[in-house]
Amino acid sequence: DVLLEAADLRKAYGPTEALAAASLRVRAGEVVALMGPSGSGKSTLLHCLAGIVRPDAGTVRYDGADLAGLSDRARSALRRTDFGFVFQFGQLVPELTCLENVALPLRLNGERRRVAAQRGRQLLDELDLLDVAGRRPGEVSGGQGQRVAVARALVTGPRVVFADEPTGALDSLNGEQVMQLLTSAARERNAAIVLVTHEARVAAYSDREVVVRDGRTRQFEVTR
Ligand code: ADP
Ligand code: ADP
Repeated sequence: DVLLEAADLRKAYGPTEALAAASLRVRAGEVVALMGPSGSGKSTLLHCLAGIVRPDAGTVRYDGADLAGLSDRARSALRRTDFGFVFQFGQLVPELTCLENVALPLRLNGERRRVAAQRGRQLLDELDLLDVAGRRPGEVSGGQGQRVAVARALVTGPRVVFADEPTGALDSLNGEQVMQLLTSAARERNAAIVLVTHEARVAAYSDREVVVRDGRTRQFEVTR
């Protein structure tokens, strides 16, 4: 039941070899942490897996389909329906309330305003975030903002959530809360997570750790 698979990816930016030989399999509902030093290729691997960056060589398959074989349009539709994203910070639209931010992916998928707002509110309620629904991102704490970002990543019911250093801008207590929320909410929905982090205590929330070094995935995988 492999959902997402990268095979022997290579990617260079000019003379910089970001990925040299990166391979990874993610099963449905699995939480995989990509670990490794800064500049080792973790984000590039995540962007290739999510169909944002096209590798120079190698293949990415999602649900059996080669991402390179899809049109740009089909790839971006896939990102909107099947994938969710959480970044380090700054992904919430500052002019919108937290509820409007959470409802936004549904609006972009063509959902009517009332339905989108209803579902956004229901999710905020489930995630115990209703008290910030009417506030703008600038009016909530960093921890609250990242938890709202988690809600926004999950609102479309994705099968994979890509999280690139989701706790990077938080202190350790808020980081733990965000990881707790992200992993428990994803597990309830059987969504897989591909998590990029360099912090062991964040990676500890994963089922499996894969080490990336010099653009290569190391095939010793720590499995919990
Ligand atoms: P990590 O996420 O492990 O810190 P990255 O995947 O961000 O590593 O980067 C891997 C290497 O590729 C680094 O040397 C980085 O500077 C380079 N790189 C990444 N993205 C770009 C880009 N858009 N243009 C040029 N170089 C890049
Ligand atoms: P937490 O991040 O765990 O919610 P905080 O102590 O950071 O706890 O926040 C407590 C209260 O202060 C929250 O209601 C939050 O909205 C508010 N708050 C915290 N930081 C900011 C900030 N930078 N701007 C506006 N409100 C904030």
